Amino acid sequence: MKYEGKFGKYGGIFVPELLIPAIEELEEAFYKFKDDEEFMNELHFYLKEFASRPTGLYYAENLSNELGCKIYLKREDLLHTGAHKINNAIGQGLLAKYMGKTELIAETGAGQHGIATAVIGAKLGLKVKIFMGSKDVERQKLNVFRMELSGAEVIPVDMGSKTLKDSINEAFRYWISNLDTSHYLIGTTMGPHPYPSMVKFFQSVIGKEAREQILEKENKLPDTVIACVGGGSNSIGIFSGFVDDEDVDLIGVEAAGDGIDTNEHGATLTKGTEGILHGSLSIVLQDEDGQINDTSSVSAGLDYPGVGPEHAYLQSSGRAKYVPITDKEALNAFRLLCETEGIIPALESSHAVAYAVKYAKQEENKGKTIIVNLSGRGDKDMFTVAKELGVSI
Ligand SMILES: *Cc1c(COP(=O)(O)O)cnc(C)c1O
Repeated sequence: MKYEGKFGKYGGIFVPELLIPAIEELEEAFYKFKDDEEFMNELHFYLKEFASRPTGLYYAENLSNELGCKIYLKREDLLHTGAHKINNAIGQGLLAKYMGKTELIAETGAGQHGIATAVIGAKLGLKVKIFMGSKDVERQKLNVFRMELSGAEVIPVDMGSKTLKDSINEAFRYWISNLDTSHYLIGTTMGPHPYPSMVKFFQSVIGKEAREQILEKENKLPDTVIACVGGGSNSIGIFSGFVDDEDVDLIGVEAAGDGIDTNEHGATLTKGTEGILHGSLSIVLQDEDGQINDTSSVSAGLDYPGVGPEHAYLQSSGRAKYVPITDKEALNAFRLLCETEGIIPALESSHAVAYAVKYAKQEENKGKTIIVNLSGRGDKDMFTVAKELGVSI
């Protein structure tokens, strides 16, 4: 391997020996093609023409007036398939193609990453296999149908909790037996090196654009950048544009579910401890015996018991701060953004909006310029929101 893939003490490579050749091949290809003009031109072509980049940096004037801060929204919700996940799916899909692979493997919980992978597979002419916990297949029928319409094969995983963490194990297993033909397209900044660095590279377009856009609109950098954290990809993407600017505060927002027993929700960095999960050392939610906890949040995309290793590092170094937001706070923010701006955010993104509201209301933050990464749109969440509000649709 060329690099260790460490962020401080976090990250690294903790996989079965059998996977090392695949990881080595992937590392070599990534570092080669990220500096290859033809690859990068093609990447930019698809980001622009297929996904609709650049996304706007939208001044939320009504919300700002209400809160007494300047709030800008980075509109990843306007991308094809409705969220930032497509940035990474395009990048890795194209990389797989340059590597001569014919098949993409992915795992998905709520289905959003499965859809992003399915559509880029269709576009680039690659076969797609999606591993999905059988419980999730049942809960997310509409998304399963969307994937199948794009030609993907959805494989229900009946192991363990029948949800995301078991489908990740299953996807790794399938990859080991099909290394020559397949690429495992991980959807967030987790996994063994080179995944955390590679996913960050493909998502850093968010931060690059946001930085240029805020300089153009405000003639200065923002005071604060806020993003929600599941595995950590939309947040690391936008943070990357500002991490070297010491004066810009970076805040990641995690899901605290019902707020009662937060160890059982997605608030990994707030509540977790050091551990190895899915190929790297990071902070994870686990019990005293090292068993990984089952998590539950209103937003399926934040419902993951681990977090990318670079976030563990940014927290330990103090460069970024991580805070919890409950389901209820997220739902209130969801409604506030709908009502003030006419924008329907994803429930994941609503966590970031909710913290921005809390933050703006604090006396010491009055008048600050804040960028909130609106990672996705809320169409997928209509049934969940209706149920939470006690409305039938
Ligand atoms: C998947 C998802 C997330 C969480 O994933 P990250 O890797 O932490 O970005 C956040 N927002 C939306 C809209 C998602 O679909």
